[in-house]
Amino acid sequence: MPMELKRVVRRAVMRWKGKQNSPAPILPDKFKTVSKKQCRSFHPCPRFCNFAQRIPMTDMRTILCIFCALCTTALTAHAQSSPTAQTMERLGFVDIRSVDSTIQVSLMYARADNFTGQVLYDDLREAYLHPKAAQALAKAQHILKTTHPELSLKVFDAARPMHIQQKMWNTVAGTPKNIYVSNPKNGGGLHNYGMAVDVTLCDAKGDTLPMGTHIDYLGRQAHIDTEADMVRRGQLTRQEQKNRQLLRSVMREAGFKALRTEWWHFNFITRAQAKAHYKPIP
Ligand SMILES: [Zn+2]
Repeated sequence: MPMELKRVVRRAVMRWKGKQNSPAPILPDKFKTVSKKQCRSFHPCPRFCNFAQRIPMTDMRTILCIFCALCTTALTAHAQSSPTAQTMERLGFVDIRSVDSTIQVSLMYARADNFTGQVLYDDLREAYLHPKAAQALAKAQHILKTTHPELSLKVFDAARPMHIQQKMWNTVAGTPKNIYVSNPKNGGGLHNYGMAVDVTLCDAKGDTLPMGTHIDYLGRQAHIDTEADMVRRGQLTRQEQKNRQLLRSVMREAGFKALRTEWWHFNFITRAQAKAHYKPIP
């Protein structure tokens, strides 16, 4: 048997060298049983040979194809990431849909229909958060789905670079609406640390539930501490109040804190904690 195998190997080498006009060695199954010593005489890399000997050739081809496909996918995904998304990832923030793909995302500052009237995110389409906040948001989605499987969280803004915060501040500076926007000179707000999220509820079609005002409404009707009065005065329906209460309930249970002046805004930590332990996004 060893002599026969030796002949097989020699023939394969001869073909490889082009002596029989064959483009590549065609090795019969018997080659797989060649001894280590015989294999070393054939192959210049014994380590590879020892490894390769244990894997059938067809499986080896499959492994190589999968490896190449994974490399191509990773390179394509990276190439498709916007510069802002790449910056977020480099700083350690995570795309919330990579944590829970059922969470809906529709960034309001990637469109002009926000309180500034401008498109502020030229290239960002994904919602990024600090990993701890992203995990908590996924927990909120899980809690929501447990009692209301037909509903979903829908994120309108999350981590926000400080230079975007500056553009927002510029539109309200010197007006009564400046109470709704954090001043970058004072360190910005928790969005700038990836520790706050603007979020609402949507149905299975992605349509947002009525909450009394649209997200980003800078005014008293968006406040959460006067909802009962607004319901009595007919400024907020009982259903809109219930929708807000459901949103606050799941977000609070997941560890977020509501903001008095914006029903859609939730902080994961305090501003003091952020300044003490984290850096804002430039
Ligand atoms: Zn916010």
